[in-house]
Amino acid sequence: MKDAVLLKTLKEYFGYESFRPLQKKIINSVFEAKDNLVIMPTGGGKSICYQLPAILLPEITLVISPLIALMKDQVDGLNANGVPAAFLNSSQEEADKQEIFQKIDRREIKLLYVAPESLQFVDRFLTDGKVSLIAIDEAHCISSWGHDFRPAYTQLGYLKNRFPNTPMLALTATADKATRNDICRQLNIPHAQKHIASFDRKNLSLDVRQGIKRFEQITDFLKNRSKESGIIYCLSRKTTEELSTKLQRKGFKAEAYHAGLDHEERSQIQDDFINDKKQIICATIAFGMGIDKSNIRWVIHYNMPKNLEGYYQEIGRAGRDGLASDTLLFHSYSDVIQLQKFASNAKNQDVQLAKLDRMKQYSEALSCRRKILLSYFGEYLAEDCGNCDICRNPPEFFDGTIIAQKALSCIFRLKAAEPISTVIDVLRGSQNEVIRRNNYQQLSTYGIGKDISWNHWQQYLIQLINLGYVEIAFDRHNHLQLSEQAKKVLFEKEKVFLADIKEQEARAKVEKAA
Ligand code: ADP
Ligand code: ZN
Repeated sequence: MKDAVLLKTLKEYFGYESFRPLQKKIINSVFEAKDNLVIMPTGGGKSICYQLPAILLPEITLVISPLIALMKDQVDGLNANGVPAAFLNSSQEEADKQEIFQKIDRREIKLLYVAPESLQFVDRFLTDGKVSLIAIDEAHCISSWGHDFRPAYTQLGYLKNRFPNTPMLALTATADKATRNDICRQLNIPHAQKHIASFDRKNLSLDVRQGIKRFEQITDFLKNRSKESGIIYCLSRKTTEELSTKLQRKGFKAEAYHAGLDHEERSQIQDDFINDKKQIICATIAFGMGIDKSNIRWVIHYNMPKNLEGYYQEIGRAGRDGLASDTLLFHSYSDVIQLQKFASNAKNQDVQLAKLDRMKQYSEALSCRRKILLSYFGEYLAEDCGNCDICRNPPEFFDGTIIAQKALSCIFRLKAAEPISTVIDVLRGSQNEVIRRNNYQQLSTYGIGKDISWNHWQQYLIQLINLGYVEIAFDRHNHLQLSEQAKKVLFEKEKVFLADIKEQEARAKVEKAA
């Protein structure tokens, strides 16, 4: 297809002057009737890759999409731009369906959005030659490697057999290498051209903090941001409600959003947020899919997400207009444990646990976070980003061998019978029920770490876990136990270098005051 024709169509139907990176290459490949897989971050501009060809191609384009709630909006938007489009899903009346079938017969529709469950309706009367293009949106839903597996998607593999000459365009915002290959395999498009856009969103700052006194940290964060829209993601419905109530009491226009609200309430909240009537949404991950608000200035994760794909998609909702936006992730030990339990009960628990592990490594990282994040998506960043908390405030390491020896010998004396909190209580010589009942005052390690605060012990222990000296026995109530490697520290004088927390905290304070 000629460039001039593509640009004219882009301008005429979408009002844009030029293509974004990759869009033109993808569209040309579609016109060459090749199969394609597009990996592009949310907001990258995937839709035009099939909407524009659909306008120019002779026959109908099918768009498979799992998001019934969004189909209507998309179709309305296209119709308003002069592109004849329609949708088919299970929420429709029979009469409406019949009308659409007739329109298809009269070739009056260029784009047909179909939920995977409703494919059987079109199957009846569409044949290979009658379909010019099949687009599969949110293609990661077909893979159990992905983070949003949907059983209805697995049947899409038959499409290639039924429409062998129709090019297929699979699109997703979230796919690591394993998922990418799985998508092509399951869709029977092994030779698909892969188009992978950069996932780097330089305008998003990345910040990870310990989940201590989270509410204070949040109100602190919100100072001087009274005009900015933002989302706070929480793990449970209960937290969304409690947090929004607390924020309301402080005078913020905050609202809770979760799947437990009815449809009307939810769309009201969405509208209020989009129209800037509500400033803050405290939400479960149910919120955000398909929300087209370009000026979300910040995203906070009150709880840790269960994997990096979800995290990246959620923070990606900030700063779609390209302006600087901030993201903040609270990392807490109890979240990790909770997520670990969810993952252990999940269907493909090995994959889920491995993904959670990557999430954990990211939040506990001591090197540029963006590098870690992008490497997860197969992208290599040559330089540190300068826009994450680690780059702004790199940790200094000190010889923490004595601290490590104290902690490790304490865990050794406790015979792997206690969780992190009791280990710290023993180190600090605390008095409480558990200590008295077990006679821990008698241990030689009781009180040897009085000089270090509770929070600092917690952070040192987490570092020791990350360094591989300490393990968490998840099957036994999260008790801490020593690894083989710990023996080297206890008996072979191995040195341990720890990140200096005090120094980091002091610098963070200076940065804040400045
Ligand atoms: P995705 O589906 O990848 O999340 P969309 O297709 O919804 O992204 O596009 C995100 C935003 O970018 C939309 O507002 C869209 O209109 C806009 N957009 C897409 N392509 C272009 C372009 N070539 N020029 C300007 N804006 C574009
Ligand atoms: Zn960085």
